[in-house]
Amino acid sequence: NPNLKLQFHITLFGEDDRLLLVQDVTRLYRLEEMRRDFVSNVSHELRTPLTVISGYLETLIDNADELPPRWNRAMNQMQQQAQRMEALVNDLLLLSRIENDGSNFKATLVDVDSMLRAICDDARALSQEKGHRIELSLESAAGLTGNETQLHSAFSNIVMNAVKYTPPNGEIRVRWFEDKKGVHFAVRDSGIGIDPLHIPRLTERFYRADPSRAADTGGTGLGLAIVKHVLINHDGELEITSHIGAGSTFTCHFPRTRMASAEALAEAEDV
Ligand code: ADP
Repeated sequence: NPNLKLQFHITLFGEDDRLLLVQDVTRLYRLEEMRRDFVSNVSHELRTPLTVISGYLETLIDNADELPPRWNRAMNQMQQQAQRMEALVNDLLLLSRIENDGSNFKATLVDVDSMLRAICDDARALSQEKGHRIELSLESAAGLTGNETQLHSAFSNIVMNAVKYTPPNGEIRVRWFEDKKGVHFAVRDSGIGIDPLHIPRLTERFYRADPSRAADTGGTGLGLAIVKHVLINHDGELEITSHIGAGSTFTCHFPRTRMASAEALAEAEDV
């Protein structure tokens, strides 16, 4: 049966005794698949009505001078909430696409250097009011072999979180470096920090270390779940270290098998 999903567990006892446990996980696998499809369908269906609502709201706000002023606040609130819902639907769709695709994408050579420059520029524009110092340190000329859209979402989510969870005038340092184990992307912030208790659960959908604080940052609660799945698809690992009140560091580790040499990148660009 090609649809059968089996899980094998082998336990060793002493010198030569082994216990082989075979578990049929077909039903679990199928349920998980149904959940993913359902979330993806619902998000897709919500998109059209939301676009219509946002469109009409925009028209109303553009013509606000024809309406009683006491409606202004309500309209702005509605627009803000519609935007939140749109962000949520987009992230849900993105997450289900990343989960469904797994690593079945056509891997290309990704120029991480330019990607990180662009992400940091976006972050600087976003954090202008907060007066953050965002420093980018590109210490490796290597790129990655993988899916550009997925990697962009992962890196961008981590950098934008640093902006969200760092109070005004804080510092954010983005690093891209390599060592004998592989290539690494690290973002250190001088932000609010995270209680170690929460760290193991941060990549769960909608898990928030501090719900009251996270709610008004405008996040969808899906950012780190997206990061986790992108890393799974790229044989990477996420490491989080943090101290309450002192800041956090999020590091994505990629093995050398995922590295694209500077020469290969230059060659790909010439084609
Ligand atoms: P959200 O949209 O709530 O930011 P994420 O999945 O991106 O969702 O992050 C999950 C939670 O992890 C956040 O609600 C926040 O509590 C915590 N978090 C993420 N990044 C940071 C950071 N740089 N500093 C402090 N807390 C963070």
